[in-house]
Amino acid sequence: MSAQPELYTAALDRASAHARAWLASVPDRPVGPRVSADDVAAGFGGGLPEDPCPAADVVDQLAAAAEPGLMAIASGRFFGWVMGGTLPAALAADWLVSAWDQNAGLRYATPAAAAVEETAGAWLLDLLGLPEGADVGFVTGATMANFAGLAAARQHVLSEAGWDLDRLGLTGAPAMRVLVGAERHDTVDLALRYLGLGAPVVVASDEQGRLRLDALAEALQSGGGPTIVCVQAGNLHSGAFDPIAGAAALAHEHGAWVHVDGAFGLWAAASPALRHLLAGYETADSWATDAHKTLNVPYDCGIVVVARPRALRAALGVHTSYLVSSDGPPDPLEKVPELSRRARGVPVWAALRSLGRSGVADLVERLVHNARALADGIAAIDGAEVLNQVDFTQVCVAFGEDARTRDVTARLIQDGTAWMSGSHWKDRDVLRISVSNWSTDEDDVRASVEAVRRAVASSPR
Ligand SMILES: *Cc1c(COP(=O)(O)O)cnc(C)c1O
Repeated sequence: MSAQPELYTAALDRASAHARAWLASVPDRPVGPRVSADDVAAGFGGGLPEDPCPAADVVDQLAAAAEPGLMAIASGRFFGWVMGGTLPAALAADWLVSAWDQNAGLRYATPAAAAVEETAGAWLLDLLGLPEGADVGFVTGATMANFAGLAAARQHVLSEAGWDLDRLGLTGAPAMRVLVGAERHDTVDLALRYLGLGAPVVVASDEQGRLRLDALAEALQSGGGPTIVCVQAGNLHSGAFDPIAGAAALAHEHGAWVHVDGAFGLWAAASPALRHLLAGYETADSWATDAHKTLNVPYDCGIVVVARPRALRAALGVHTSYLVSSDGPPDPLEKVPELSRRARGVPVWAALRSLGRSGVADLVERLVHNARALADGIAAIDGAEVLNQVDFTQVCVAFGEDARTRDVTARLIQDGTAWMSGSHWKDRDVLRISVSNWSTDEDDVRASVEAVRRAVASSPR
């Protein structure tokens, strides 16, 4: 028998009710979870049950067991790591993605999924000022977007060096160099490990964590061979942007491929007021970003953009007899590491359609405005020291000695009004604030500054 619609109704009604209850609880609940993973595990039922259970009951059990262990990442007062919430249109679209259950790999098999992702991709190129005709791939996150961009880079620079990577692999290949800034994201190193490229050559960075051009020039001079330069748009501690124009120009003089890790920072390109931070970014060869961060779509949604489609498709495309592809535009599976995947570009389309060009600009500008307001509010607290120049969405604060900074962070998290993560930057423990949620407003900022003030006041000097 084919799908039996009535079997879905009760379960979906319960899921919708639980989703609404969760979202309604977000503004007033403590932002952090109140229990550990071990504490909630029992609620999920222990050993594997022998017998079936009706779908609606499964959903009820799941929601009840999960509730105390959920982090309110959707809260306007969640400032941990770099995460972002979910726009209403994107969340609802994501539900449809699951209900439709399209395998988004092939144009002819799932045309609606392919077409909506192609539209979303074209809108992204327009919005972010990236080259028309570049390939856009929807991957799980920026880690895989970095992987995909760097895979295209590896393919291209080895092919330029006359090496047939597909046939010969890396064994015996010309030695490749990947140059990265000292404060690149660790997932760049991870992607390089996936690619068999080993550890990168580390180029010194400045006081805000930006790659230094003099150091890059020296590093480029002191070696040769197929080269990739990976720059960063948005440092996760300072929010700072590498000097991309200068770095790309130097790299291109040496025939290198330039990849931009812009997991959250690439979205500055959507704002006429902030685009200057990224100057020169459009001259790069590939870009990685996350829609699940600054654009506020649900997980999982990273985006890779590659200006040389042939390199990306050569690196990641699949060609087999049973996947009949159509003529014309490339199949989605040509541009991502996966074969089967959900239509994760659909929520991107919904987010962009819901915000429009002006709405994305407003969103990014509001995040920056709120980051500055938080930095100013916290800087006025006795004993607080904002360590970075707040040009974008990130703020790092210390409260004297490391032990006290850690104590203030722990007290703040315990208080529950706001959630900010601890980190270590420039040899100091810091309280790290990332403003990534579309819904953060002035009241959230005020309440969060007050929560930091309480944590500081209660922390022994
Ligand atoms: C978050 C982040 C990543 C990794 O992204 P995921 O979506 O978590 O895989 C890479 N680079 C930077 C700069 C980031 O902020």
